Amino acid sequence: MPLTARRVIPIHVTARLPVTVRSALVEGKTLDGLGRPLRDLRISLTDRCNFRCTYCMPKDVFNRDYQYLAREQILSFEEIERLASAAVSLGVEKIRLTGGEPLLRKGIEVLVGRLSQLRTPDGGPVDVTMTTNGSLLARKAAALRDAGMTRITVSLDALDQHTFSAMSGSDSKVEAVLDGIETARQLGFSPVKVNTVVRRGVNEDQIIPIVQRFKGTGVTPRFIEFMDVGSTNHWELREVIPSTELVRRIGQVFPLAPSGARPGRSTSRTFDFLDGSGRIGFISSVTEPFCADCSRLRLTADGRLFTCLFGAETLDVRAALRNGDDDLAGILRSVWHERTDRYSELRGESGAPGTERHAEMSLLGG
Ligand code: SAM
Ligand code: SF4
Ligand code: SF4
Repeated sequence: MPLTARRVIPIHVTARLPVTVRSALVEGKTLDGLGRPLRDLRISLTDRCNFRCTYCMPKDVFNRDYQYLAREQILSFEEIERLASAAVSLGVEKIRLTGGEPLLRKGIEVLVGRLSQLRTPDGGPVDVTMTTNGSLLARKAAALRDAGMTRITVSLDALDQHTFSAMSGSDSKVEAVLDGIETARQLGFSPVKVNTVVRRGVNEDQIIPIVQRFKGTGVTPRFIEFMDVGSTNHWELREVIPSTELVRRIGQVFPLAPSGARPGRSTSRTFDFLDGSGRIGFISSVTEPFCADCSRLRLTADGRLFTCLFGAETLDVRAALRNGDDDLAGILRSVWHERTDRYSELRGESGAPGTERHAEMSLLGG
């Protein structure tokens, strides 16, 4: 029985809820309108990037005339920390820094250090992690680790330089990203994950080389279905390779077995190599939506809250941060209580993407 959106859930209602929902309430979790707890916060630190990935920031749109956020619009580290602290008080256990490219944000390690000091209501640590394109990681990894980051995800769509350049729209070298991944691994980041967005006819020939490259190294590649996020990337269903097809193709070369049920709130389904040399993951947002487990709140670099990658902005919280509003937790709680998003499931049911304009991935951070 789904919960309907409400700010306060009366006791006589909680008595009728399913056990999982009731126990989440008892543990002081913050539930949305469909009974999903708030557990993850994604913070976009900038809308700028040194790449122009075709599926995220295509060059024809993100060109010289594009209006990026002005410096004064962007939240300061102190503002981000206050907001994150309120989110943690409501049950957030994991914070992912993203962007645009988060490593473009000067002094990012200072923010990582502050966020790593946050504690959950029962005194537990908060997992602070990041998704990066890896081009600057080799020189930043040690500072991030010293500030308290222990795990990291690096995006990499091809090993072949020509395909990499075409897909990333940049002059960066694949070697620089590989260097970043290797540096993080050697510094003890665990896990190090590699995100690969797969587009049919564009980089599908890179899948086996990527698996081969990381097999046995402890690094986990994860293949992501190309999503219809934003409204500038010319998404077409025919370019999506369903994860089931990828599992079959990879399994023919490197025998695989499912690692078991999708771990808890994870967005990926994982498979182990039968020879014991590691694991790979698949993020199937198009063909196997995971809205039922979606526990993510997103904060843009300029302080807007989104409760779904495909949803409209829920609230601009920057004014509250700058006016010194001291009930940030109350604001976040009511935003979360009102949430009923499940775009990918609805897209799956109707078989077609919605026609409304979506915010860009570079704003929301994935
Ligand atoms: N710049 C960083 C990076 O690329 O890792 C962080 C921000 S990026 C928006 C976060 C993640 O979103 C990346 O792993 C990227 O591959 C993924 N992404 C962006 N656009 C996508 C799309 N249309 N479909 C699927 N994944 C996408
Ligand atoms: Fe930049 Fe990441 Fe988007 Fe690529 S996916 S353009 S690296 S923000
Ligand atoms: Fe979460 Fe929205 Fe994605 Fe569903 S479509 S998993 S609700 S972000």
